[in-house]
Amino acid sequence: MDFSFTPEQIAFREQVLKFAEKELAPLAGPSDRSGEWSWDAWRKLADFGILGLHFPEQYGGAAADVVTTCMAGEALGEGGADAGLMLAYGAHSFLCGDTILKHGTDGQKQKFLPGLATGRLVGAMGLTEPGAGSDAASIRTRAVRDGEHWVLNGTKTFITNGPIADVVVVYAVTNPDHGAMGISGFIVEKGTPGFSAGTPFHKICVRASQTSELVFEDARVPAANLLGQEGYGFVMALGTVEWDRSALLAPGVGGARRALRECTRYSTERSQFGRPINRFQAIGHKLADIRIYVEAARLLVYRVAWKKDQGQPLNHMEAAIAKLYIGEQGVLSASDAVQIFGGYGLMEEYPVSRFFRECKLATIGGGTSEIQKMIISKTLFANEG
Ligand SMILES: Cc1cc2nc3c(=O)[nH]c(=O)nc-3n(C[C@H](O)[C@H](O)[C@H](O)COP(=O)(O)OP(=O)(O)OC[C@H]3O[C@@H](n4cnc5c(N)ncnc54)[C@H](O)[C@@H]3O)c2cc1C
Repeated sequence: MDFSFTPEQIAFREQVLKFAEKELAPLAGPSDRSGEWSWDAWRKLADFGILGLHFPEQYGGAAADVVTTCMAGEALGEGGADAGLMLAYGAHSFLCGDTILKHGTDGQKQKFLPGLATGRLVGAMGLTEPGAGSDAASIRTRAVRDGEHWVLNGTKTFITNGPIADVVVVYAVTNPDHGAMGISGFIVEKGTPGFSAGTPFHKICVRASQTSELVFEDARVPAANLLGQEGYGFVMALGTVEWDRSALLAPGVGGARRALRECTRYSTERSQFGRPINRFQAIGHKLADIRIYVEAARLLVYRVAWKKDQGQPLNHMEAAIAKLYIGEQGVLSASDAVQIFGGYGLMEEYPVSRFFRECKLATIGGGTSEIQKMIISKTLFANEG
């Protein structure tokens, strides 16, 4: 087993890190404080070629493999320190873009992917509803065929990029008698009659990303916008889990690396009782715990990514362990980071305070920690573990 990255991957990582430190980091604090979307940061990310990195070249991408894509995400998270922007990128490129890439017709791919790769179009994915979160198969948004259209009715909630999206992959029930296999995917375009986005929610974390409801009131979606096979939507949604447990988690791991760097520097510079605080064992142990977290989290993310590159089927146990560990242990590491900074750690201008808030999302979004434990324990009994 080879744990090393190629020299090209390492050089690319350095390039992304420098870009993120120079171009994205200065914008992160202001967008977090205002809660406003930064088109400036989005443009920079797009112009750097990140949004369609893993798309084939014919659709404006660079055909990067999953490990390289994760390395870019990790470097963006470390250098840019903007978890909100990273969430927007994840929803756009993977939950929306990759689903179209994997399941779209040639026509759909030609129509949407080049615009998503350049950032001219913003993508989103709508699965969650007010009454259906963890139990995603119980969604109620209904799609009924009417001639050359599907008519959608229902409400999605917590949708990342909802207020700014041009293209949304939406999941709706096409056959209520078939349970999860009665759900289908649709590409819904901004401007579709009967389709609207709610006002952005005020969040305590990932504030730079815009999150809202999506409302469908007799929204008429062209039949040509059915995505994949009818009844195959839930399988398609589950298919994004591999990206969710690799490329979407990678920026958070990068964020932890940055927090460690800042804690190491601060604990060297800050003195109490006549010596740098890193000389106190209690502080040294916290630094060690954060370092261990970074190491383990990276291994978990890159294992999922590497297996995807090898074409190996998703191992549900490994994916759930990655999500659970990175989320729960990330919260503990962020708490340690704030503790090392003392009172300053609670001040907004210190990025560790933001890291502390941002970390909580990974225990909820894209599948809660409780659901990951449920998957892990069920898999144990299915003898897969
Ligand atoms: C900032 C943000 C961005 C998001 N972006 C998107 C997006 O772009 N697209 C999208 O579709 N969704 C998105 N989501 C939704 C997200 O995936 C859901 O919030 C998540 O799946 C949990 O659903 P819920 O919030 O309805 O919680 P619930 O499912 O109502 O859970 C509430 C609590 O009950 C627990 N629970 C539920 N079922 C069980 C069980 N069987 N056993 C044990 N405990 C259980 C949960 O773990 C949790 O602690 C986003 C959410 C947030 C906060």
